Amino acid sequence: MGLKNTIIDLMPGPLVRTFAAPYTAGKGIASGVAKADDLHSRLGIYSTVDLLAEEVFRREDVEATVQVYLRMIEALKDRPYASISLKPTSLGINESETYCQGNLRRIVEAAAAHRLHITLDMEDRHFTDVTLRMFKAIRAEFDNFGIVLQSRLFRTAEDIKALPAKRCKVRICIGIYSEPADVALQNKPDMKEKLFEYVQLLLDRGHYPEIATHDEPLVRRCIEYLDRRGVPKDAYEFQMLLGVPRTQLQQDIVKRGQIIRLYVPFAEDWKYAIHYMKRRLAANPAMALMVMKNLFGK
Ligand SMILES: Cc1cc2nc3c(=O)[nH]c(=O)nc-3n(C[C@H](O)[C@H](O)[C@H](O)COP(=O)(O)OP(=O)(O)OC[C@H]3O[C@@H](n4cnc5c(N)ncnc54)[C@H](O)[C@@H]3O)c2cc1C
Repeated sequence: MGLKNTIIDLMPGPLVRTFAAPYTAGKGIASGVAKADDLHSRLGIYSTVDLLAEEVFRREDVEATVQVYLRMIEALKDRPYASISLKPTSLGINESETYCQGNLRRIVEAAAAHRLHITLDMEDRHFTDVTLRMFKAIRAEFDNFGIVLQSRLFRTAEDIKALPAKRCKVRICIGIYSEPADVALQNKPDMKEKLFEYVQLLLDRGHYPEIATHDEPLVRRCIEYLDRRGVPKDAYEFQMLLGVPRTQLQQDIVKRGQIIRLYVPFAEDWKYAIHYMKRRLAANPAMALMVMKNLFGK
């Protein structure tokens, strides 16, 4: 792990950028908006647009990030096929929960005025409690606010049961962060089995699952289950990352009249975006292998 991290640290920025190119819309808010428009007009695909940002600590950097999100809301308004995703570590959680919640609330309130949905991404296990607390506090006031849960964590069934009673949009994914064996499953087939189970639990409890996986058999299994259960097509959606090659599967979903939404990150400043991507690679070195496979085939 130490050696892998050193190699990732030493990777030159331009190489990281080359790796990231298929997975990002480009530089600036306009690139995110253009990508969302293009995906929808050409392919009928929805987007959730996200700023690629390094964890920020200084108040001025947090405020700059809030301002980017407020400008994104203005730029994305009147697009029912777009939503926005964001992370607590870019919005002041390193300073305090109250400060971060205040920033999040400003963004969610501004988005509500334009009927734009905001999803609060889930980071590693150290942030799970605080992220859920902030989500619940703001969800009590605004309907346009959703959350992410990770099927690898043992706690997730209880977290689903403890969601607010009113319908919540919940992105359910296996989770990108490697977590220790005392809190999380350690192999992917088990995480994916749990993901399938939690789609059912979310529906049982009246929530809207956003099924985020690129695993084709799992997506097809979910489709078969949702059809068999007679779940209306506007009661759930599928989500994938921009750049992961799943064209046929995505088109099959669009043709069935179901929503497929791609995660569309853009960079304001490549310097921060490269730091962020290195951190993600260090947290999950297997991702580098997936990127290589996608770029150069199996
Ligand atoms: C829209 C969206 C939002 C997400 N938000 C969060 C979040 O808030 N918190 C969180 O912890 N995790 C998040 N994730 C990541 C998620 O938890 C998984 O780590 C990721 O989706 C890979 O799991 P998988 O189910 O696709 O299965 P895997 O078996 O990991 O992947 C299946 C295949 O998909 C491709 N693939 C998957 N991921 C990548 C990648 N990053 N780059 C290139 N190719 C890839 C590979 O070809 C791989 O073989 C999100 C994922 C998506 C799609």
